[in-house]
Amino acid sequence: MARLDVDVHSYVFEGGRWIGCEHGCIYCYARPTHSYQGLSPGLDFESKIFAKINAPHLLRRELAKTSYVPESIALGVNTDAYQPCERELRITRGVLEVLQECEHPVGLITKSALIERDIDILAAMAAKRQAAVAVTITTLDPAIARTLEPRAAAPARRLRTVRTLAEAGIPVGVSISPIIPFITEPEIERLLEAVHEAGATSAHYVVLRLPWEVNPLFQQWLQAHFPERAQRVMNRVREMRGGKDYDADFSTRMHGEGVWAELIRQRFKIAAARLGLNGHGGRFHQLDASKFRRPLVIPPLGARASRTGEGQLDLFG
Ligand code: SF4
Repeated sequence: MARLDVDVHSYVFEGGRWIGCEHGCIYCYARPTHSYQGLSPGLDFESKIFAKINAPHLLRRELAKTSYVPESIALGVNTDAYQPCERELRITRGVLEVLQECEHPVGLITKSALIERDIDILAAMAAKRQAAVAVTITTLDPAIARTLEPRAAAPARRLRTVRTLAEAGIPVGVSISPIIPFITEPEIERLLEAVHEAGATSAHYVVLRLPWEVNPLFQQWLQAHFPERAQRVMNRVREMRGGKDYDADFSTRMHGEGVWAELIRQRFKIAAARLGLNGHGGRFHQLDASKFRRPLVIPPLGARASRTGEGQLDLFG
């Protein structure tokens, strides 16, 4: 795994979240969020990480509101909740502790093997239909993965995570997103077979999206690593996006449009059906929120709580 000097900045503002991701996937559509901070969506996004260390506390406060209506929470949708600094910060673990205590359903999306650390909580919640996980695996080729997602776990390690979670009784789905024409797209069937064999029960995909600053970053990456295929890849991307590099139209932005988008849709559908893999988008919504109970204790800001992110509020009290 490539090394990088990473600064982790802690913050306690409300309404924020993890910003930046050390995994550094070139196609990451969260990259433009770094521009809002006056930082670059390229290297800064991967090396200047903002971690909301009081997330467990804020969550507890939110869940305690009488107006709060419980429904599944998805962790890791914006940036990965198990990137390397979580090992020390334990923010995600703190959030899971609160959710477990309140019997609140949660779905997690990650590329990191670090999620295995929290199997004790996730397995107990899954036994009550309150937790499910989606692991993202875009390719089985470690050489492609090393350049595409330079500091995420290798494909074989992610498959092992799928297996470990599944064996612990946790429902595991796999996202093979984004599908990149001529780079990861030839692997659709092989990937689905591998994740099914590892124990995944659902699968999902999105075709490559190139919003804002992601577009030039991706095209630089393409020229650097696949110069002989670059033109073909971009031509195909444009065919699936109505002639543009990207089209944010809500009805087509996930799966694209046109003949090639339809071909991918059919290949995915046929392979997933053959293997008995369902779409996992619905699975998070099928989690059980009926046992939810409000937290009884809301520690004041500055109170020392535990080894989770809550205790670190002392730093700012
Ligand atoms: S792991 Fe997810 S959030 Fe992190 S860089 Fe990759 S795509 Fe973005």
